[in-house]
Amino acid sequence: MAAGTSSWLDNIAPEIASKLHSDGVAVARFATDYGGIISAAPPAAVFRPSSPEDIAALIRCANGADSPFSVAARGNGHSTHGQAFAPGGVAIDMAELRGGGKRIRVSAEESYVDAGGEQLWIDVLEETLRHGMSMRSWVDYLYLTVGGTLSNAGVGGMVFQHGPLVSSVLELDVITGKGEMITCSPELHSDLFNGVLGGLGQLGVITRARISLRPTPAKVRWLRLFYTDFDSLTSDQEFLISLRDTVGFDYVEGQVLLNHQQVDDPNFFSIEEAERINQLTAEFNAMYLLEVAVFFDSTSLVDQSIEGLLQQLSFVPGFAFSKDVSHLEFLNRVYTEEEHRKSSMAVDPSKIRHPWLNLFVPKSRIRDFQTGAEGILQNINPTGVVLLYPMNRNRWNENMTVVVPDEDVFYSVEFLWTSTEQDWKNLEAGNNEILGFCHRQGVQAKQYLAHYKSRTDWMEHFGEVKWKRFMQLKQTYDPKALLSPEQHIFTN
Ligand code: FAD
Repeated sequence: MAAGTSSWLDNIAPEIASKLHSDGVAVARFATDYGGIISAAPPAAVFRPSSPEDIAALIRCANGADSPFSVAARGNGHSTHGQAFAPGGVAIDMAELRGGGKRIRVSAEESYVDAGGEQLWIDVLEETLRHGMSMRSWVDYLYLTVGGTLSNAGVGGMVFQHGPLVSSVLELDVITGKGEMITCSPELHSDLFNGVLGGLGQLGVITRARISLRPTPAKVRWLRLFYTDFDSLTSDQEFLISLRDTVGFDYVEGQVLLNHQQVDDPNFFSIEEAERINQLTAEFNAMYLLEVAVFFDSTSLVDQSIEGLLQQLSFVPGFAFSKDVSHLEFLNRVYTEEEHRKSSMAVDPSKIRHPWLNLFVPKSRIRDFQTGAEGILQNINPTGVVLLYPMNRNRWNENMTVVVPDEDVFYSVEFLWTSTEQDWKNLEAGNNEILGFCHRQGVQAKQYLAHYKSRTDWMEHFGEVKWKRFMQLKQTYDPKALLSPEQHIFTN
């Protein structure tokens, strides 16, 4: 083991110990994440596995120790509230498994991809595209790991039609909290399979996911339409997600543009277009954006179908913009935008904080929610992106651990704030005010990427039936509650 030791680490089997690193530099990175707002003690050591078997051996060792120690897999550390931390325990650096070549294999005949839990979606996408195939549903941002995303759900603009990423999973390899390596699917160990998907890292470490694929058209027509009226935006979105895939768009999202927020995306808008939009924005207090896309092979067919769809929508006349791009360019758009944003920032990007709030809000209360949130945010004047788009609940599997509101259609509302070191607490306070508003007004919203600290809050989040099932699964697969302790579900 590298420098610095903690007493229980001294007694670890040599083949595990050689992969544990406890020097200050090694552990410091594992006490920070993308959010940059939670300070926790670092792990006692970072584990750099060469194979899934190494992870199984580590977890068996954690169980067998005189004082069992906690273990958290760290995907790409893109949590915002310390969910992948393991203070005083062992953080598994999943990225190490990417070192020995990409563990991604496509079967074009059987239309699936096998991807290691440590893999980034961008690499999975590039590999599937080589075979002319793609997954049905994608997250907006591809620099997340397979395991970290599937532990949450994986949402984006294709969920309305194909469900979250977890809905496309066919099979998993999981190393449980007892160190057993189990292959599971809807037919085999289905309790573990459903429990792990959306299971917040509580039942096991995902080391492989088999995900279904379909042939994909080469091109994407990507459109952005502007609205000055919230109800017109949401009724158009709801109409679009009610259409069947043969007649509608393949992707539907939306944004609330805050306080005369200027559009600044040279990858999409020309300078003239941006100027025209920003003039419109200056006239109205509130502006909204509908973002849609169609995947296509034939330009003449897509022209016809889009014209028909646009005629049925109520955006501001003259404010529809479109662009044809490759599949890869479209799916990787958020990364491109993020890189542009970072390059134009006056502040060092590492000093930026991300106190995010992600909610699923039932359709019946989205208007009330919007009014309440708008009032709260006016006093805070935040910066960042606010996404807002609806999804169909029947595309979510009720047996999986992930929780959504009890209504046929609900909205994903994502407050993706960026703030300085000085004022992130104001934004976090604003987030709490929004949650308080929901509570007082009986808006039955559910948090996505939740970060509760008390068991009572988690019990309320899951509801009686799911909570009971989750507890039983925890007892079966991680009885010593060693995994992902900083989710604070079974460790408080
Ligand atoms: P980490 O943050 O490293 O880990 C998250 C949790 O999963 C921890 O509890 C960890 O212990 C556990 N975990 C990690 N790997 C494994 C594994 N192999 N097996 C079991 N448990 C594991 N989410 C969406 O749904 N859609 C989006 O479009 C989207 N875009 C995002 C864009 C950005 C810029 C950021 C910062 C986040 C975004 N997210 C999105 C949220 C993201 O899905 C979650 O934060 C996810 O947890 C990040 O994955 P990660 O690989 O970095 O996981």
